[in-house]
Amino acid sequence: MKKQYETSTLGVRAGTARTEFGEHSEALFLTSSFVFENAEQAAARFSGGEGGGFVYSRFSNPTVTMFQDRLAALEGAEACVATASGMSAILATSMALLKAGDHVICSNAVFGATVQLYLTILSRFGIETTFVSPNKVEEWQRAVRPTTKLFFLETPSNPLGGVCDIAALAAVAKKAGAVLAVDNALCTPALQKPLEFGADLVIHSATKYLDGQGRVLGGAVLGSKALVDLVYGFLRTAGPTLSAFNAWVILKGMETLELRMLAQSERALEMARWLEKHPKVARVYYPGLESHPQYALAKKQQRTGGAIVSFDVKGGKEAAWKVIDSTKLISITGNLGDVKSTITHPATTTHGRITPEARAAAGIGDGLIRLSVGLEAVSDLKADLSQGLG
Ligand SMILES: *Cc1c(COP(=O)(O)O)cnc(C)c1O
Repeated sequence: MKKQYETSTLGVRAGTARTEFGEHSEALFLTSSFVFENAEQAAARFSGGEGGGFVYSRFSNPTVTMFQDRLAALEGAEACVATASGMSAILATSMALLKAGDHVICSNAVFGATVQLYLTILSRFGIETTFVSPNKVEEWQRAVRPTTKLFFLETPSNPLGGVCDIAALAAVAKKAGAVLAVDNALCTPALQKPLEFGADLVIHSATKYLDGQGRVLGGAVLGSKALVDLVYGFLRTAGPTLSAFNAWVILKGMETLELRMLAQSERALEMARWLEKHPKVARVYYPGLESHPQYALAKKQQRTGGAIVSFDVKGGKEAAWKVIDSTKLISITGNLGDVKSTITHPATTTHGRITPEARAAAGIGDGLIRLSVGLEAVSDLKADLSQGLG
């Protein structure tokens, strides 16, 4: 699709491919394999010829292709490959780019399972990872080794909304000869396009805002065709590809992506401002607040502060649990990015498996609450939190 189309237009139009029936809504191709006209065509398709016709849904599927093309248009990427989940996107990227003896530099403020993947799984295959502060460019620089192949970060980070300087880290990665991968799950291309700031790869958990309604799992890797082809090579053989059904659900979810991101961000900013003034709240973490330490950087990279607001309540775990348990509207769940607001106590859930020392080092205190702001009225959300905040 033409590059000059705006995000909202691309969200509803990009990637659509119609069959001979002329269906207006994108078709769901629930088929594991595709039929060939004859043995010669089968042989050509299997060898990748015939203009890359469809063979088997582990390799590719028309509904999945539409999802990939729409997301690529939104991110401004040359290529996109879909995965079964956000974690399989990170795994596939690592398996495609790394081998035993290679080194990864990873932000210490990334999704919990990402830390586990590098620390406990990839380490068994001879891949070493150094964790560094996301905002200290000199720490990334110092961690570089001749074997460093991948820089991995998430911005803004979950749950504390720390913002990384993508352009500065892209320069360090380039000099080191490493690939910079940015997990863009929290902003999505409606708010932030990491490739424009020099990232080599963008990673998505489509489970979050791309679907937006908490229905299915999915993921994606985007970037240059050369890099994405390497990731595709792993996926096609190893198997963690996106199902056609999930691709179809997410494709439809993406049609309201920009609308949702803007509306949810607006509500999040209002909640953050209200919480910042609340006498029972010690601190608010939201990159859209002027008081956020990286407010200027967030403003440069992101269109809004996003829809995740975290805050420390006075009184530690007991007070935090009271706020959570007093809610009647907001869902107590680990997921985020839904149109339904969700509330989480990171120290005892998403970050419960790491040691108390590591938790403290990451700035995740016992009084911390993560709020993923949905589409409910702000007045109702405030009333719901007020019950336990007192
Ligand atoms: C949820 C999440 C993931 C993992 O995605 P899944 O789809 O659950 O596998 C990775 N990164 C971030 C930032 C996430 O929020």
